[in-house]
Amino acid sequence: MHELSIVESMVELMEEAAGGRRVRRVTLEIGVLAGVMADAVAFCFDIVAEGTLVEGAALDINEILPVARCDSCGREFECAWEFECACGSHRITHLRGYEIKVKCIELGSGPVNFE
Ligand SMILES: [Zn+2]
Repeated sequence: MHELSIVESMVELMEEAAGGRRVRRVTLEIGVLAGVMADAVAFCFDIVAEGTLVEGAALDINEILPVARCDSCGREFECAWEFECACGSHRITHLRGYEIKVKCIELGSGPVNFE
């Protein structure tokens, strides 16, 4: 599964950043054009995180809507699958919508004992 290898490298990155501390919360950004399903990422996350510092962390996935900038008139707009500016130009630069990345992680300060 495509998503599995993506999640594996993400968890690796998180563990490196965590430096031995437990990860409490994870926020990912996934562009809707990235060709990755958020549901599949969430499913893989639970499997990959097991036995790592990331196990049990809350997972937030922000879906990023695609944004493009017209090279002709400079207008920035949300584009779904239509890559044409209102001015008629097809010279478009994609700014957002293809990203697959870890936005942030929150680290726990270890277990809290109530006794
Ligand atoms: Zn334009």
